[in-house]
Amino acid sequence: MKEKVIVFTTGGTIAMRHDPVSGGAVPAVSGPELIKAVPPLADVCPVEVREFSNIPSPHMTPRLMLDLARKVEEALAEPNVSGAVITHGTDTLEESAYFMDIYIDSDKPVCLTAAMRSAAETSADGPMNILCAVRAAASPLARGKGALVVLNEEIHAAREVTKTHSANPKTFASPFWGPLGYVDADRVIFRRAPLEPQKIHPTEIDDKVFLIKLFAGADDTLFNFLVERKVSGIVVEGFGRGNVPPGAFKGMKHAVDSGIPVVITTRCLGGRVLDVYAYDGGVKRQLEAGVILGGEINAQKARIKLILALGMTRDHEKLAEYFDKP
Ligand code: ASP
Repeated sequence: MKEKVIVFTTGGTIAMRHDPVSGGAVPAVSGPELIKAVPPLADVCPVEVREFSNIPSPHMTPRLMLDLARKVEEALAEPNVSGAVITHGTDTLEESAYFMDIYIDSDKPVCLTAAMRSAAETSADGPMNILCAVRAAASPLARGKGALVVLNEEIHAAREVTKTHSANPKTFASPFWGPLGYVDADRVIFRRAPLEPQKIHPTEIDDKVFLIKLFAGADDTLFNFLVERKVSGIVVEGFGRGNVPPGAFKGMKHAVDSGIPVVITTRCLGGRVLDVYAYDGGVKRQLEAGVILGGEINAQKARIKLILALGMTRDHEKLAEYFDKP
């Protein structure tokens, strides 16, 4: 018997229709309806739909991600299951994808997909994206590659992919890396594989982790507020190699001295943060102050990683070991 693919539906534009009363797209399409709109799936493999939620992805939370990851992991452990697909809104898809990538401990593929155009729009991209995601999840070639993001016939690594355009269907890209492969008419093709997948598998998470995007002239105002609120962690999106304005650095030091882990990332689309500069706010000074280097991942993914890592440890050294990995 052919192995099946389990499709978890969570919502997003892929499951929306225009509502004439409110004047915008709203959640409207059920999981089974989503699959019914893709007749060629019948030629790929058996598909089982499990409705997880029907929310726009700006409503997605780390707690929901944990719940979803557990359900996907359980499904992958079932016999006769080759892989899983998650349909999701595009807005926070990369965060859920990265969560699944790090949390789920299975060789079987987990393919996240979505749509930029709702079911009612001309050239809706949902059906083709679902078809490609199921084909990738059914492919033995996709095993051991972590969570994958499959849209527009391209296959991206969860760690590398980001949403780059607010409206164009070709929105998901892996800057400086490109896709891992693609889904062609007759086969699934991989050109490369992600190296050294990282796993963090806590029983609980701590989602009181905030993200501050810095700007020219940023000071310590937001840091002081978060310290007062006794948050569990702060991710900072700095500039270039990770450097920050002196005022913001003062706030970062205050947070670290108050026992709050602070992770520095860069606003650049590629490259690691590194202790190249020693001026006030440079990463050399940040390291001396106890700031953790985020590595190559973007700020929103570093936040997901810190949420998972805080579920394992509060120790500064151990937390730092989770970051700056390939
Ligand atoms: N706002 C929608 C969402 O993320 C956008 C989409 O799905 O493309 O749920």
